[in-house]
Amino acid sequence: MKNSRRDFIKKSFNAAVVTGIGSSIMASPALGSCSRTSSVTAFQFQQIPLPYNYAALEPYIDAQTMEIHYTKHHTAYLKNVNEAILAEKITAENEQDIFKNMAKHSAKIRNNAGGVYNHNFFWLSMKPGESSSPSGKILEALNSSFGDFEKFKQEFTQAAMTRFGSGWAWLIRENGKLKVTSTPNQDNPLMDLPAGQGTVSDGKGTPLLALDVWEHAYYLKYQNKRNEYISNWWNVVNWDEVSKRLG
Ligand code: MN
Repeated sequence: MKNSRRDFIKKSFNAAVVTGIGSSIMASPALGSCSRTSSVTAFQFQQIPLPYNYAALEPYIDAQTMEIHYTKHHTAYLKNVNEAILAEKITAENEQDIFKNMAKHSAKIRNNAGGVYNHNFFWLSMKPGESSSPSGKILEALNSSFGDFEKFKQEFTQAAMTRFGSGWAWLIRENGKLKVTSTPNQDNPLMDLPAGQGTVSDGKGTPLLALDVWEHAYYLKYQNKRNEYISNWWNVVNWDEVSKRLG
């Protein structure tokens, strides 16, 4: 009884110091008096619950890849960034703060904060089901920025194929226009990077869609065939989510 009460208190405390993606558990009235911990406790990143099961994106993305990707790679970024935030006494209030000021942070923060954010974003960029295609506002925006959907797909595929080594392909909104870009490692278009290291300088903006082209995202099923992974991935893009991000 004593133990379970202590566990409960411990869990409540842990819940109270962890803030969510773009939203804050602190705001929950249920946690009431715990909210004061926000002023003395550093922001901590969170891993979203996977919105579908590991096998849901089969046959395009296999269950084993999804499971390892989510439970090993993504969780490692989470552990590392949250440790670094505490060890380096980062006082940022949310993830946007961290990305906006990335030039001030360590490589450990940069790589792992990006790793957590990018994967949360990636999981939500996909959905199970029949092949999907954009419609409505997002389709109009793609047409007006790229000519048509096929041209956008080609440009995005090209960015994903030519990203040397590990990284990401992105569709972003920049000054009202949609643009394709790519980033190395776990960088993303929200990051304000140190001068001379601004590999995303040609594409800083609001992320709308992302594709992970690290080998860990496809190697078990596709080995070296990144092109097949990319062309199959279009079947699981969650265009409703992309549309929502467009606002
Ligand atoms: Mn990954």
